[in-house]
Amino acid sequence: MTDPIPSAAVPFLSRVGNQHFIGGKWQAGAGGLVVDTFNPGTGKVLATLARGGEQDIDAAVASARRAFEGPWSKFTPAQRQELLMRMHDLIERNYEELATLETLDMGAPITRTRNLKAFVLQVIRFFASQAMNCKGQTIPSSLGSNFTSLTLRAPVGVVGGIIPWNGPLISQWWILGGALATGCTVVMKPAEDASLTVLRTAELLMEAGLPEGVVNVVTGLGSEAGAALAAHPDVDRVAFTGSTETGRAIIRASASNIKRLQLELGGKSPDIVFADADLDKAVPGAAMGVFNNSGQICYAGTRLFVQRSVQDEFVERLVAFSKTLKVGNPLDADMQLGPLISARQLERVMSYVDIGSQEGADLVAGGERMQGPVADGYFIEPTVFANVNNSMRIAREEIFGPVISVIPFDTAEDALKLANDTEFGLGSAVWSSNIGTVNKMMHGIKAGTVWVNCYGMIDPAVGFGGVKHSGYGWKGGDQHLDGFLYQKSVYINGD
Ligand code: NAP
Ligand code: MG
Repeated sequence: MTDPIPSAAVPFLSRVGNQHFIGGKWQAGAGGLVVDTFNPGTGKVLATLARGGEQDIDAAVASARRAFEGPWSKFTPAQRQELLMRMHDLIERNYEELATLETLDMGAPITRTRNLKAFVLQVIRFFASQAMNCKGQTIPSSLGSNFTSLTLRAPVGVVGGIIPWNGPLISQWWILGGALATGCTVVMKPAEDASLTVLRTAELLMEAGLPEGVVNVVTGLGSEAGAALAAHPDVDRVAFTGSTETGRAIIRASASNIKRLQLELGGKSPDIVFADADLDKAVPGAAMGVFNNSGQICYAGTRLFVQRSVQDEFVERLVAFSKTLKVGNPLDADMQLGPLISARQLERVMSYVDIGSQEGADLVAGGERMQGPVADGYFIEPTVFANVNNSMRIAREEIFGPVISVIPFDTAEDALKLANDTEFGLGSAVWSSNIGTVNKMMHGIKAGTVWVNCYGMIDPAVGFGGVKHSGYGWKGGDQHLDGFLYQKSVYINGD
């Protein structure tokens, strides 16, 4: 594909390059190193970014610390709320540019990135409301009638935000929103494969009137800039979204100064279809629960358990549905699926297709890299394996591509046992018209989210999180701010 760059993205792409965003300004990296970022739809270089290291992280953390102790600390909750609402309006006005940059940078179809607008804005409004919610309690004192006891809540300080490439336009807001609502400051390290919307958002934050240094962005590699941020002694908390393996490295790095952590990690989520489900809804619902964003979603329902009595019909309909999906140039508004993020990810996903076949699963749809006009990009057909066994590697390891493993089961007890037989605990779903079955599954499944007769929707007022190797900490809901605040108790002797 040799599509021209859409005009909405041209001004930013011509000004971005080789620079971090520190202290409210573009700043050249200390080492002068750069890293290319690719357009996964074409395989061509999209932009060249600064490859940050320890010195750049030092500068960004120092800037965030100065801002935390400076003018930002004087902002009242109402002022922080107002700023978030100004930010909301700026994101709304500039959304087409952001959606276009995200599609070019990480390959999600433009209809998907455009459709995310309502959700991104809803998340920002949610955090604007949370700015008024950083409150402590007064507690009737048992120490004596002369005592008053209360709790205060204060921002933890400098937060390191490390996010993956599968949707930075939205995922950055789970960190920025929490920090701006509470009065923390941030150093973001986006994924080297998708940094553009994070950089552009940092610019827009300055336009909204955010004091310089409250949000800083250092680009580069996880093993360099990311590792330096995770280990930095003056970072109070790290909010990390990414793989379980990197999560372990972040935990180890946190030991130096006992950093607080939030870890949103990988998944291998069970999606369970009972014979009494409405298959007209369950087939497309379960399919898109994996194929959305080409399978590059942490809570994708990649272990699809189907009750044996409807297995044949279900698989047939799933395969037919997968063949209706339009996969191609993500800038084309007709496309439902785009490419994978990188050549490396394509290679990884294709290796799992081989592994599944070698393990004896039936490859019943897809499984090939796409050829023709999209051959230079990293496209793979929506892929379905049937007759998968839960002990096969394709059922145990996170593939992070458009690959479904259909696993048959007989009874609800079997389904529950198989669903929980995983090291992960992120998403899950049940499709059934029997309330007793639904009840048994929603209580029995060990995961942070259970969807019933639907898949993948998130309401920021409710939130989501993980258990087991999928991490800890909650995004959204009343608990989100907990990680950005610390509590102190105050005992006042009124004598
Ligand atoms: P990843 O390799 O763990 O990378 C995530 C981020 O960590 C990137 O910014 C990466 O930078 C950085 N990083 C890598 N090594 C690091 C280190 N040693 N120290 C500090 N930072 C480091 O994950 P990914 O492959 O990009 O993303 C896919 C994974 O994210 C999947 O496992 C998926 O399930 C998970 N995910 C989870 C959620 C959730 O909410 N639970 C949401 C989305 C994705 P570079 O990329 O520049 O190396
Ligand atoms: Mg890219």
